[in-house]
Amino acid sequence: MITPAHVITGLLIVLGLGAVYALVVLTHPVVRCLGCKGQKMRRQPGRKPVKCKACKATGLMVLPGAGPVHRFYWSVFGDRFHDKRKADLAAQCAARKKQGAPRWNA
Ligand SMILES: [Zn+2]
Repeated sequence: MITPAHVITGLLIVLGLGAVYALVVLTHPVVRCLGCKGQKMRRQPGRKPVKCKACKATGLMVLPGAGPVHRFYWSVFGDRFHDKRKADLAAQCAARKKQGAPRWNA
């Protein structure tokens, strides 16, 4: 017998697994090809090895969902490192201007 508690528990488990997968995809979007295990060639017994079609013989594959996860991450968090660097440089310029120091490009 399925109760609402079971449904909610199942939903929470699915959401948790999705969050874990999103973190994995965010940190490791590219992995070894699952078709050829990074060998770039598919080997079958009794046959000549052929180039892997799954990865186009690169040996690497992008995990499903990596694109949307990264787009979401960059749209939410943006490029914080460069934004901070720009703000620091602007603050330095303002401080130099205040001191009356000559500008480099003047
Ligand atoms: Zn492959």
